[in-house]
Amino acid sequence: MPTMTYCPRCALSLTTKFDGGRDRIACPDESCGFIHFGDFSIGCAGVVIREDADAKRALLVQRGWNPFAGSWQIPGGYAEHDENISLAVEREVEEEAGIIAKVSDVIAFRHSIGGGTGGPSTNMYVIFRLNLVSGEPAYDGDEIADAGFFSLEEMESMESVQGLSRWAISKALNTPPGSGLVFDPGEVGTIRAGWQVFGLPEDR
Ligand SMILES: [Zn+2]
Repeated sequence: MPTMTYCPRCALSLTTKFDGGRDRIACPDESCGFIHFGDFSIGCAGVVIREDADAKRALLVQRGWNPFAGSWQIPGGYAEHDENISLAVEREVEEEAGIIAKVSDVIAFRHSIGGGTGGPSTNMYVIFRLNLVSGEPAYDGDEIADAGFFSLEEMESMESVQGLSRWAISKALNTPPGSGLVFDPGEVGTIRAGWQVFGLPEDR
């Protein structure tokens, strides 16, 4: 799906060029060399479990804005292009729900192809398990209409809980913390500035 008309580098009208086995939107000026590979984004979301005396409850936020205003989901958002994804998810959980929590491990990721199938861009959405540190649910009443901790049973009677969120919460409740992909702070994880490497835990 063409999403660009003019070269963002030199402003010439874009054309198509055969590159890497397929036609791609490209600049006609060879010295410019711009090729449009598509629109990509990276999302992140966090499952935060609170162990109450009577049940384990997961943090949910209710969307105040469309799309899907009114529906409940785990907190999350986009990772900035210059932001480590583990810090992005911790930031989103605090911004949307007022909860301080730290990344434990990766529960799952979703890859979705954009352009006509839903989102505006092809998206990688990484779902983390986070350990609750402190805070009570708090929200802005605008982008986020409500927030709270709910058990799977309580979600049954809620009007609209996003299926993927419920699935991720179920995964988190049925696996030990730290059993998913964990950040490796060692040699591999710091082999280049800006890298974060997550891998299977070896001590399990
Ligand atoms: Zn150009």
